[in-house]
Amino acid sequence: MLKRGGTRLSVIPEHQLWLECACGHNGPVQVVDIIAKWGDQITVGEAIARLRCSACRTKQIKDYRITYVGGSWGALRGAEQGSTSSK
Ligand SMILES: [Zn+2]
Repeated sequence: MLKRGGTRLSVIPEHQLWLECACGHNGPVQVVDIIAKWGDQITVGEAIARLRCSACRTKQIKDYRITYVGGSWGALRGAEQGSTSSK
């Protein structure tokens, strides 16, 4: 079985973590952004422990998924901006 959170982010740079907070907020974080911030030795589990929810500013990540992004960031970010117009 999978070891929960033991994967190094440096081996999945083209993925993103889709985080779900206890407050109900959810959204993606790019793996490369996490590596840029905390270095390439960080694991998925450590990143989850450090990341804050952008809505409620707490660290109550309740669930997460690792999803593959590949080269389609541009399209993805465009779609995202279209649906969230709060900022
Ligand atoms: Zn939250």
